Amino acid sequence: MGALREKFWERPLRDLSPAEWEALCDGCGRCCLHKIEDADTGDIEDTNVACKLLDTETARCTNYANRKAFVPDCLRLTLKIVEEVQWLPESCAYRRRAEGRPLPEWHYLLSGDREAVHHAGAGVAGRVINEVDAGPLEHHIVDWGDAQ
Ligand code: SF4
Repeated sequence: MGALREKFWERPLRDLSPAEWEALCDGCGRCCLHKIEDADTGDIEDTNVACKLLDTETARCTNYANRKAFVPDCLRLTLKIVEEVQWLPESCAYRRRAEGRPLPEWHYLLSGDREAVHHAGAGVAGRVINEVDAGPLEHHIVDWGDAQ
């Protein structure tokens, strides 16, 4: 990882270096879960079904560097995507900064604790099921709430 500037997370997203962009992720795991989009209304429902590469106990990708080879449609978040999509959680560090909000105190960049995201209720570690075992997505619709 390249050098990270002091308090880089307070800078506008467009000013972040690739390394700083990567480091901004709080590791909640929410974007690695399947969603169901209503074909008529465009409404999106959350599920507790995780991508096959997500470690369901830690909410970390088990093959982040090579994930595209195994999950070709894995979305690589860009500034444009962050500004356009509706489904990033309220707590997502990218969404917060795109909306001009500060990081929450539990974010590891402030707390120094990578597990704090899960203790705060914003992360999905231990609360999801792997897509390989899940069966129909419609059986797994959940409301994750809006941890701040
Ligand atoms: S929802 Fe945002 S903060 Fe959470 S894992 Fe995805 S990119 Fe990172």
